[in-house]
Amino acid sequence: MNKQIPHSAFPQLLSPLDLGFTQLKNRVLMGSMHTGLEEASDGMARLARYFEDRAKGGVGLIVTGGIAPNRQGWLAPFGAKMSNQSEARKHRIVTRAVHEADGKICMQILHAGRYGMHPMAVAPSALRAPISPIRPWEMSSRLIQATIRDFAKSAALAREAGYDGVEIMGSEGYLINQFIAPRTNKREDEWGGSFENRIRFPLEIMKAVREKAGPDFIVIFRVSMLDLVDEGSNWEEVVALAKGIEAAGATIINTGIGWHEARIPTIATLVPRGAYTWVSQKLREHLSIPLITTNRINTPEKAEEILQQGHADMVSMARPFLADPDFVLKAAEGKSDEINTCIACNQACLDHVFARKETSCLVNPRACHETLLPKLKTTRSQKIAVIGAGPAGLSCSTELAEQGNEVHLFEAGSEIGGQFNLAKRIPGKEEFHETIRYFKKRLQTTGVNLHLDTRADEALLMAGNFDQIVVAAGVSPRTPKLEGIDHPKVLSYLEVISGEKTPGQKVAVMGAGGIGFDTSVFLTHPADQENTKEFYFDEWGIDPEYTNRGGLKSQEIAKTSREIWLLKRSKGKFGDSLGKTTGWAHRLTLKNRGVHMIGGVVYKKVDDEGLHIEVNGKPQVLPVDHVVVCAGQEPLQTLYQTLKDKHPHVSLIGGAREAAELDAKRAIEDGLKTAIAITQNA
Ligand code: NAP
Ligand code: SF4
Repeated sequence: MNKQIPHSAFPQLLSPLDLGFTQLKNRVLMGSMHTGLEEASDGMARLARYFEDRAKGGVGLIVTGGIAPNRQGWLAPFGAKMSNQSEARKHRIVTRAVHEADGKICMQILHAGRYGMHPMAVAPSALRAPISPIRPWEMSSRLIQATIRDFAKSAALAREAGYDGVEIMGSEGYLINQFIAPRTNKREDEWGGSFENRIRFPLEIMKAVREKAGPDFIVIFRVSMLDLVDEGSNWEEVVALAKGIEAAGATIINTGIGWHEARIPTIATLVPRGAYTWVSQKLREHLSIPLITTNRINTPEKAEEILQQGHADMVSMARPFLADPDFVLKAAEGKSDEINTCIACNQACLDHVFARKETSCLVNPRACHETLLPKLKTTRSQKIAVIGAGPAGLSCSTELAEQGNEVHLFEAGSEIGGQFNLAKRIPGKEEFHETIRYFKKRLQTTGVNLHLDTRADEALLMAGNFDQIVVAAGVSPRTPKLEGIDHPKVLSYLEVISGEKTPGQKVAVMGAGGIGFDTSVFLTHPADQENTKEFYFDEWGIDPEYTNRGGLKSQEIAKTSREIWLLKRSKGKFGDSLGKTTGWAHRLTLKNRGVHMIGGVVYKKVDDEGLHIEVNGKPQVLPVDHVVVCAGQEPLQTLYQTLKDKHPHVSLIGGAREAAELDAKRAIEDGLKTAIAITQNA
């Protein structure tokens, strides 16, 4: 039914894994990722299609998003759970779709413990998590026993629902992890105190699940190998726990890194690729069952390298399968340059999960929306001009061409990518290179006629006999009305990030949106320092020697010679307009680097003395060498205004349509939706 996957391109990654009672076709695990579809009214059918596409794309083993074993284990009120047969029946559509696509799928059982955002949340001790407003109930011994039985029942129901196995979520600071670590377990009964008592809960769960689900059922246990919080586990405890879990009947052990409440980013773009596989490697010699490694692995090349270095038996990737369902197939066919690479931005996946919105993907808006954003083939090929090769224009033109249209993409500059060409220059955002590479290749494979260095004007477009014109001309930086705005001290972020102008040692950054933050990171990053693992470990206080509990060490912040003032007119927290899951990390980065952050600023003027501002009614002068303006953008609509009354079919998309709160997520989605609408109406 499905294409046979050859093993030549990535020999380790694509080799089968024998689990005794069953075989996985390769070493690729699609890691657990909540999608929000689990709770949506038409969600299970959409979820089935989403997983089916990934199974068809060649993934060795899929793990679902977290499903609670009982109501107390919910992440949020009325979250997905598996505690009775009617719930199990609803999952059959998912397991059937995956099996028909020759895939295998495990259901993750996740008890949120004190991370549950509801009044029934429970934990080993009644301690509120620093990231939650909810104080959990302390579990009685009776409830602990009942919860162990609920895990086992959930696994048995998962089996009835057709799953090939379960993953027990024992990491990231959820309930099981809360029992294991002294940080959260202050009990004095048989479930707390000594290490033996603290690991009783996970071991009993593992035993009960194995007993109830039977021997020929995959049970993955996700062990927290590096908690990255004070009073987390120490290394000896991690090893002892993992060995205990193996002895209690696990089929595979998966790696968990960092609690959600850890103040260390572990999966954001700024984390170097494969930064944590050393932890799995350290454990591997102590185990005889297969071990999965994880975190910031997003290319088949990196995954293969990790396996070849012996860090693990399997590689888990979650977000990369939102970005590209055909990741494995493309790798197997020697077309890894065609993979739409996850850039670890979190903007459409985890940020959506935390905002209780359906998951999608910035670089692939179709993720989790497969049935709503169909891949079309046109019955009437049209000649279409797309103006602007930024994210919106690239997304629109490639989709239109794939649908069978004749597409001409005009770009005034000499390269494609638009604003992505700036983003890729920010230290820690190098992944944006990958999106440009992906679109460059996709332009070729879909046959888009790319016209670089070509400013498409009215004459060119009207002479071209186009059936449709799509204007994706983008944005231009906003110039605030301010006395002295044309002073030589004033620079635009474009001039600074492109490297055209180098600001002095004292710099004011005007505007603290995404670009104000990016500019501040750019200006404070130590010169010639690559974003290596060592640099990242030092800056965030991660100890690869694992000397202390939690794997923490004191931070070593690289000295920056510049003094930066990051300013905004509004009040409130800095970084709030950035993503929920990454804004705090950007804010901490700048705080660690000594950036002064001042809100509630009134800008007065720029002159030879510097930037004159007023804060709380008090005037002051920032004695800066330069002021970098990061005050948002204005849409570029002139071409559209010229064409709209002269041509019957002109569309305006991306930043050119609306610059406010524009980001690449909206631009790419706008491009895709416009392409679908054009072909649907052809
Ligand atoms: P932005 O997020 O809209 O921020 C621009 C800021 O400039 C505003 O928040 C505003 O803040 C200030 N401003 C607006 N008009 C001004 C004026 N006339 N004078 C002085 N200040 C003014 O725009 P951006 O930073 O250019 O980013 C563009 C888009 O890219 C945004 O959607 C952003 O989220 C996205 N992006 C995201 C990231 C990320 O890491 N997630 C990184 C880069 C870009 P005050 O009114 O408070 O001063
Ligand atoms: Fe990756 Fe960003 Fe897509 Fe999430 S939204 S899967 S982090 S590219």
